[in-house]
Amino acid sequence: MNKSDVVIEVRGVHKWYGELHVLHGLDLDVHRGEVVCLIGTSGSGKSTLLRTINHLETIQEGRITVNGRTVGYREEGGKPVAAREDVIAAARAGIGMVFQNFNLFWHMTLLQNVIEAPIQVLGLNAAEARDRGRELLKRVGLADKADVYPRKLSGGQQQRGAIARALAMRPDVMLFDEPTSALDPETIGEVLTVMEELAADGMTMIVASHEMGFVRRAAHRVVMMENGVIVEDLPAARVDESTGRIRDFIQKFH
Ligand code: ADP
Ligand code: MG
Repeated sequence: MNKSDVVIEVRGVHKWYGELHVLHGLDLDVHRGEVVCLIGTSGSGKSTLLRTINHLETIQEGRITVNGRTVGYREEGGKPVAAREDVIAAARAGIGMVFQNFNLFWHMTLLQNVIEAPIQVLGLNAAEARDRGRELLKRVGLADKADVYPRKLSGGQQQRGAIARALAMRPDVMLFDEPTSALDPETIGEVLTVMEELAADGMTMIVASHEMGFVRRAAHRVVMMENGVIVEDLPAARVDESTGRIRDFIQKFH
């Protein structure tokens, strides 16, 4: 793959929370259409990495580029300066994120959840947004739940709704932070299926998850983090051949 295919470029990123040094000069390239599964023990920095890519957290050193837009820091005369607000907003609009705890808006129906941002941010008219919203709900298997409030939905349905809501912004990349780890076991499969369909459609994705079934069915690469750096990076088809940290990790958790 050539360089122009790189959609997410993370270079030498350092992140501190106060005194706590969490990302230690991390590098990662994700290519268009690539599905990268991010693994690593709790506290290794997976969520922090995803949150810096989506600019929910600032970084102190390094550079993060999404689709050519620098969201972290840009250099000027060798000095890092924060990216402009409008550049950050434009970059973030192209990034969909799905969290562990669904976080749909509780006072809105599922369809209202899905059409809110397209109307407010993309400026779609209500009729157009509703048509697209229903289409997306159909895509995640929730066509019959459009007028239902989130509290009436199972965890798996809420998470599929959250995926539809993220997709409504027509993102170039989707970031998933342990999307199934708060779900009842019987609803994990339906969420993974939606994610696998998205991957098959060519979406560029980073998925922090330990679901090895997803890795085998949908991921292209497995990247293992430890103490804020990447310690192993393998094609998903070769995870079983790992002789390093990924092997140790899989043996411990599966
Ligand atoms: P992971 O997602 O791999 O479990 P995190 O990125 O959540 O790892 O956490 C990495 C480290 O950063 C941990 O030591 C965690 O306690 C710390 N951390 C995460 N978020 C914050 C925060 N908002 N403030 C301070 N420390 C944080
Ligand atoms: Mg996490």
